[in-house]
Amino acid sequence: AAGADVLTVKDLQAWYGESHILHGINFNVKAGEVVTLLGRNGAGKTTTLKSVMGVIGKRAGSIRFDNQEIIRATSDKIARLGIAFCPEERGIFASLDVRENLLLPPVVRPGGLPLDQIFTLFPNLKERLTSQGTKLSGGEQQMLAIARILRTGARFLMLDEPTEGLAPVIIQQIGHTIARLKSQGFTILLVEQNFRFASTVADRYYIVEHGKVIDGFANSELSANMDKLHTYLGV
Ligand code: ATP
Repeated sequence: AAGADVLTVKDLQAWYGESHILHGINFNVKAGEVVTLLGRNGAGKTTTLKSVMGVIGKRAGSIRFDNQEIIRATSDKIARLGIAFCPEERGIFASLDVRENLLLPPVVRPGGLPLDQIFTLFPNLKERLTSQGTKLSGGEQQMLAIARILRTGARFLMLDEPTEGLAPVIIQQIGHTIARLKSQGFTILLVEQNFRFASTVADRYYIVEHGKVIDGFANSELSANMDKLHTYLGV
């Protein structure tokens, strides 16, 4: 069962230079939930995650995390509050091996998972410990990217299209991992194009269209909302 709001985003606006990208993003995430942002390419989902992480230069509106306003906080302050972002491009250091990639990010809070717990979640990574980043498969890179943010001590995880370009069997493993993290008390904000996958892990959804959140519903209300998904996502 979900608890109080951990993240409350109200009328979020964001700009890249002169380009006004987000025009009014409203949503909330409760403790222990998996919430998914759905929407077409270019709708503003990634920009929303980056805004929460504080890596978009110009933003307005309100982002409250753990009852603190963070709309003007720096990204390192936001990281120290326990928010982590796993980008779509994964950001694995190609010249470092798996162990080095895991040990590189700073531990910003107590509660970061020790390596043995990381390997319980991702047994493949243990076998690949001395493999260089470039030698990893797409699935292994994605697992490593998630594992790395678990080391930092963050409890609020933002995952940007973790299934992109991966084989169905790997996508299923990522689904199991997300379910396991949820059962361990992590809160997860997911961006997905793969609606089928999202529906296996999400408690709730929001639809992003042209820089706005235009709708939101729970997984239990899914069948009543299939028409909308058709319209907005072509699902
Ligand atoms: P995608 O799945 O393609 O990433 P998205 O919903 O995550 O889609 P965003 O990446 O947030 O969409 O992009 C929203 C809009 O912002 C798009 O029109 C995109 O072209 C624009 N945009 C993204 N990054 C930049 C940038 N660095 N500079 C200028 N415009 C950008």
